[in-house]
Amino acid sequence: MWVSYKNGNYMVHFNTKNGTKIRETEEDNFVPSFAENMDVKITDRCDGGCEYCYEGCTTQGKHADLMNAKWVDTLHPYTELAINGNDLTHPQLVPFLKKLQKKNIITNMTVNQVHFEKHKSFIHSLVDHELIHGVGISLRKVTPQFINSVKEFPTAVIHVINGVCTPIDFMELAGNDLTILILGYKNLRRGVGYLNDHTQEVARIQSWTYDNLDTILKGFRTVSFDNLALEQLNVKNHLSDEQWEEFFMGSDGAYTYYIDMVGNTFSRNSLSTERFPIMDNSQKMFDFIRDKYNLRG
Ligand code: SF4
Repeated sequence: MWVSYKNGNYMVHFNTKNGTKIRETEEDNFVPSFAENMDVKITDRCDGGCEYCYEGCTTQGKHADLMNAKWVDTLHPYTELAINGNDLTHPQLVPFLKKLQKKNIITNMTVNQVHFEKHKSFIHSLVDHELIHGVGISLRKVTPQFINSVKEFPTAVIHVINGVCTPIDFMELAGNDLTILILGYKNLRRGVGYLNDHTQEVARIQSWTYDNLDTILKGFRTVSFDNLALEQLNVKNHLSDEQWEEFFMGSDGAYTYYIDMVGNTFSRNSLSTERFPIMDNSQKMFDFIRDKYNLRG
């Protein structure tokens, strides 16, 4: 289940079943010519109502037009796209996934636990038809049923937010051979109001997570972090220089960038308020981001 491709001055070996990625080069630095990974927002509509939703999604939010985006036609095979599923009401979701599949794009989709549980058979059918590979599930509440459901999906990754995922949540999830992704707390849109209303609670949880990170790392099959969480939890301090060198996948914008298909903009990451009008070519947007933030290797 491994695919290999050349990107700039290095080779990427990617396991389509479990998402493991290995980069190899003879040179000192990895210099990509196109983005390995893109975070793509396809909709602002969602009935989840999460208090801390940093995208500010509501039932009145707009769906993007997915079928006429020209940059999609310029994607390189095996680029990974991480899309937001939200409440799974986007009418073009399946045609869009089919279009990406035809281009050999590796699509991963994130949904909230409430939508995962509500639409589990639909998500199973997307995985079975290889329309999506990884399934990200944002945690709401740990239950034995939830853990069992997650185990039905070999590529499932539970997303937890630093400052929202409580010590009890971590303890209940641990020891179940699960994969988790710890996301930094995003103080944006509804994330601002939630933090104002729960300042001490968020700080207390973040401090517990920081103090117990070594134990957390031992409780799961894999623990990964977005770059914001790496910073908030100072993860580098918990690793040797060799481990950091081996596991750090690069700054935002160096191998990845963000596209908001609803707002027709792109940026270095989803947190950045510096947004640029979308272009017709995915490589041009990547080059623009790397030049703008001086990220060329
Ligand atoms: S489920 Fe996700 S998109 Fe929907 S409101 Fe909650 S955080 Fe926002």
